[in-house]
Amino acid sequence: MTDVERREALEAIAAEVRTCTNCRLHQTRNRAVPGEGDPETEVIFVGEGPGFNEDKQGRPFVGRAGDLLVKLLATIGWRREDVFITNVVKCRPPDNRDPFPDEIAACAPFLHRQLEVLDPAVVVTLGRFSMATFMPGARISQAHGTVRPVDPATGAAAATVLAMYHPAAALRTPAIERESYADIAAVPMALLDARRRREETRVAAAAPPPDISSTTEPAVEADATPGIEAESLDVVVIDSAVAVGADDPAEPQLTLF
Ligand code: URA
Repeated sequence: MTDVERREALEAIAAEVRTCTNCRLHQTRNRAVPGEGDPETEVIFVGEGPGFNEDKQGRPFVGRAGDLLVKLLATIGWRREDVFITNVVKCRPPDNRDPFPDEIAACAPFLHRQLEVLDPAVVVTLGRFSMATFMPGARISQAHGTVRPVDPATGAAAATVLAMYHPAAALRTPAIERESYADIAAVPMALLDARRRREETRVAAAAPPPDISSTTEPAVEADATPGIEAESLDVVVIDSAVAVGADDPAEPQLTLF
């Protein structure tokens, strides 16, 4: 997908979100909040749902929680414009209550489509509702700061998820705020690892199929080959981690350190 096609696809989703009436939240919203950010980014942050300020402006994370998110991003040298930021539900639950399961289900296809278009390497979940989408069954007190491969059924074909507490929780509890600074510090390494995994998958997919016509010495060959492949993959991976995304040097890249 080209840059222009990706922008257009994201804008088409956003236009549908803005006029969506698929759940009761549309009745009380001022503005729907589709999400925003760099369409070429490798990293998407997924929060819970718009709050008071987001509902007024139609933009995600523009209140106090957003200010903290920007501060957290700054500690790793990133700006909010460098990533894509969205939510599990795109309309504000009244009085900032938790979104109901049927509201999350009604909104899920939008997030799914955003993930398909963005094809992120890393998904950072903010809070337990977002985490539940990408790490089902996990407990945030244990899972924050940890990574897992993302189920491609989410729409993200080859991503790694890193769970974080919601910034609003960090604003309420100093210990959680401290943990959030530690957790975001793990994101650049998660990106590096995710790039490596994606490259391994790409290399494996591009490898020629095994030669099934020469089956004369199967056992020895089968045992010996994986070790050699793994070693040569390491070389490919190290090279590509430096070069990845550099097909178009004009594109801004997320720097890592
Ligand atoms: N909290 C969220 O989960 N999302 C926002 O966009 C703002 C606050």
